[in-house]
Amino acid sequence: MTSSAAGPNPVHLYDTTLRDGLGMEGLSLSVEDKIAIARRLDELGVEYVEGGYPGSNPKDAEFFDRMRETPLRNAKLVAFGSTRRAGGDGASDPGVAAVRAAGSAPALASVLAAETPAATLVGKSSAEQVRTVLETTEEENLAMIADSVALLVERGREVIFDAEHFFDGFADDPQYAIATLRAAAGAGARTVALCDTNGGSLPEDVVRGVQEATRAVDCAVGIHVHNDADLAVANTLLAVQAGATQVQACLNGWGERCGNANIISVIANLQLKLGIEVVSREQLERLTELSHFASELANLAPNPQQPYVGTSAFAHKAGLHVAAITKSAGSYTHVDPGAVGNVERVLVSELSGRRNVIALLAEQDAGLSLSDGEASALADDVKDREARGFQYESAEASFELLARRSLEGYVAPFGLEDFLIVERRRPGGGEAENEMQAEAMVKVRVGETLSQTAADGNGPVSALDAAVRRALLESFPDLDRVHLVDYKVRIINPDGGADAAVRVLIESSDGMHLWRTVGASTDVVEASWLALQDAYEYWIVRWGGM
Ligand SMILES: [Zn+2]
Repeated sequence: MTSSAAGPNPVHLYDTTLRDGLGMEGLSLSVEDKIAIARRLDELGVEYVEGGYPGSNPKDAEFFDRMRETPLRNAKLVAFGSTRRAGGDGASDPGVAAVRAAGSAPALASVLAAETPAATLVGKSSAEQVRTVLETTEEENLAMIADSVALLVERGREVIFDAEHFFDGFADDPQYAIATLRAAAGAGARTVALCDTNGGSLPEDVVRGVQEATRAVDCAVGIHVHNDADLAVANTLLAVQAGATQVQACLNGWGERCGNANIISVIANLQLKLGIEVVSREQLERLTELSHFASELANLAPNPQQPYVGTSAFAHKAGLHVAAITKSAGSYTHVDPGAVGNVERVLVSELSGRRNVIALLAEQDAGLSLSDGEASALADDVKDREARGFQYESAEASFELLARRSLEGYVAPFGLEDFLIVERRRPGGGEAENEMQAEAMVKVRVGETLSQTAADGNGPVSALDAAVRRALLESFPDLDRVHLVDYKVRIINPDGGADAAVRVLIESSDGMHLWRTVGASTDVVEASWLALQDAYEYWIVRWGGM
């Protein structure tokens, strides 16, 4: 499964999360966030980190200013820009002429001003797009590419040419598409990256395009694909096998529309499946952590089904699988989960028996050993609670606490003695000014100390959470690292009349770990409280120095 043998060609990782990835709907990163991600990509072993489009975006310009103060340790920072505008021959182009003369033309000048070791210039490779979108001649477009690349090379930049719409252009007019690559390579581009800009190319088209391109130019060929046909990672791998030596991709597959190729999966596949060493073994083991870190920073719930790094990526539900993996680890996983920093998980469900319970506790590294009798009692308890609305399959932290609490001698780190919540809807002048206000007062006991705190929130659960945190922080100051990542409410057995219950699932993080807890009750606030209590108790017991 793992291989340390180097592949036939070295492959250079190029991350474009901070430029192309930000095209994703709902994704927004502050300059601070971008800096944090750039540093983590550097630590991961990515060779090129594209930071943004300084010519079109003031926030990106600020990012490059800030990065100059503390440069990356290993990766090359890349500024992105487009080729010069159309207009007459290259020598008389006002943009290029001005840059040559005085170092001041809008787009290219801002790429230069970013003072990065490398720069990526995007230009068109589709003859049709040149005519209809740029509204210029095919010759002029070739001159635009050559002039712009040459200018940046003259100024000492390593230049990557992003051949926009390459595969669509290649399908329509292969000679012209190749001519654009030659124009860039002839002007000194170190790499020509072939872009599947619309993300709809099929694997065979990608392979053909890469093969033709590697034959046509002396410089390196890169690949940049979007995921509109759900083929981005596959197309990237095939491009590498066809001779591409630079892969452009984004963290977690972020990007506009359906996203870019996912750099997490690309790295794992290159390394574990194709035997091409792109990062060290230790760096590979941090993939899961980096993926979750990025999601958190972006305020997006991590996708549990994300290949390699999702929490479900190596999870087993069926009793048969569990029986097999307790006998032989790896029976139902395609790679060793630890290679990418993930873990195999056994899901507890109503089907679970004593053996599942024992297997799960072992997987969770809880350091608990239960006798057969204790394990049977715990399995019964799980079954009983699941009938009452709890669900431990996706709440392994609550399950572990259930196991701990079942053992003699377990002392909970804190206890909630009492809570009171007051809610108020304050009418305003207009509809938009109506506002929900809630205040929670809680009594929390830690050891011998009973503390009483109050806090406000925009709803009962947030007020309760704030009050409990405030009380616990006095005894567990590190708890301020813990925050809720996701909060889900489900109505269960809606036909059950008075027995109708609410289930709350909470996902929490301290920036290093992710864990899930569950609460169920006829009342949503109580269900939330139970899940919150487990979330905090689990962290304190596991990592809070208890
Ligand atoms: Zn793109």
